[in-house]
Amino acid sequence: MKALGKLTSPSVIRALLDSLDHRPNKGLGQNYLIDGNILGIIVAAAEISPADQLLEIGPGLGALTQALLATGTRLTAIEKDKTMAAHLLAHFKNLPLIEQDVLDVNLSALFSGGINKVVANLPYSVGSRFIVNALEAHPLPVRMIFMVQREVADRLTAQPGGKDYGPLAIWSQLNYDVKNIKQVSPTCFMPAPKVWSSVVRFEKRAGPLAEVADYSRFKKLIKLCFTQRRKQIGSNLRKNAPEFFPCLEKCGIDPATRPEQIPIKQWVALAGAAADSI
Ligand code: SAM
Repeated sequence: MKALGKLTSPSVIRALLDSLDHRPNKGLGQNYLIDGNILGIIVAAAEISPADQLLEIGPGLGALTQALLATGTRLTAIEKDKTMAAHLLAHFKNLPLIEQDVLDVNLSALFSGGINKVVANLPYSVGSRFIVNALEAHPLPVRMIFMVQREVADRLTAQPGGKDYGPLAIWSQLNYDVKNIKQVSPTCFMPAPKVWSSVVRFEKRAGPLAEVADYSRFKKLIKLCFTQRRKQIGSNLRKNAPEFFPCLEKCGIDPATRPEQIPIKQWVALAGAAADSI
């Protein structure tokens, strides 16, 4: 078997794809990272220490995998594409590889088995759905570094009052400090996607911003309110979830407020207060 060349080199990627008789699959978001600096930024952001166990989603041809393994860390990977999986198994001999759709993987089982960090150049098609699954797993990883579309990064890091603030920001920032650490041009990938991407760092807080008593109630409330994000919360709740309406005042929320203006702690308080009142 030929040794793998420099996996950020377009000519190496082209030759490898030819040898595998594979064309990048758009539906699987197969945009390979070809920028060594960005790769370095992702690996450095993970701040890998000897005790860590990492999870990589979608290794593809293995550019990030190779860089992560070079640190000496323990790494498990999940890859859906059969051709990529066969290639990875052939070249990364001892890599525990889960050949499955990441959305079907039991993340809690992996995290309770010792995996404490997640690093991925996420496929666009499943990016935010995977992040939501990871945020609902137990235990939560201490750090997660993701390459996502810039538009998703904007929603993950949004603050109350902005147009991007919504469910994704609230669920992410409840337990994590989330930062956009690098904007990434389409030219850093092969083939180049149509949009810019961002590297986002999730750093687990010492504790959640507020204790959520019933997560599914909390999630349902937020989903309901943000289906009409420009509507005043009072009129939405009075019509669609009247049990929450009397709790607005108790939680210090003016019924005329719009969902996009309400900070995370108040969402937690409102979900909890309604639970007390029923
Ligand atoms: N890690 C490589 C890199 O940085 O160059 C490839 C990243 S590419 C953006 C996304 C990878 O995720 C591809 O290898 C693709 O086959 C894989 N993938 C796509 N959808 C997936 C899914 N639902 N579950 C697991 N892997 C998936």
